Amino acid sequence: MKINSIDYSGSIVDGPGIRTVLFVQGCKRKCEDCHNPSTWDIDKGKEFDIEDIVEDLRKKCLNKKLTISGGEPLLQYPAILELVKNLDDFNIVLYTSFEFDDVPKEILHYLDYIKVGKYIKEQRSTIIPFMGSNNQKFIELRGGEIEIN
Ligand code: SF4
Repeated sequence: MKINSIDYSGSIVDGPGIRTVLFVQGCKRKCEDCHNPSTWDIDKGKEFDIEDIVEDLRKKCLNKKLTISGGEPLLQYPAILELVKNLDDFNIVLYTSFEFDDVPKEILHYLDYIKVGKYIKEQRSTIIPFMGSNNQKFIELRGGEIEIN
């Protein structure tokens, strides 16, 4: 799996609580004002085995709160699915630019929350928790698919 970086410093803006953030490499959207353009090029980043990423996360992410961001994680769907299956005891947020109906359904069983929708500069928001623009949605999954925005 191609990743850009893992931030273990503890984010409070990428989902509920203090979270480790895994930035997946590769995105074709090219949204204007993207905060992570270094994640766009799939030929950059570094290739890791899933088992090594899992081992690192288990060692360093002690509160088991993980956000998978990017880049566009679903471009590497089989690897992301394998990763979340191996972290079934973690609280996991997935940030994707896909719309909810376009997200493969199997992965939803392994996620606690999903943020869906492309970033749109003209709809930028700094007041909605965990999102960059008003068109996006942050949806609670485990515990009953409750849409909280
Ligand atoms: S989908 Fe996300 S990572 Fe990709 S260009 Fe848009 S804001 Fe950047």
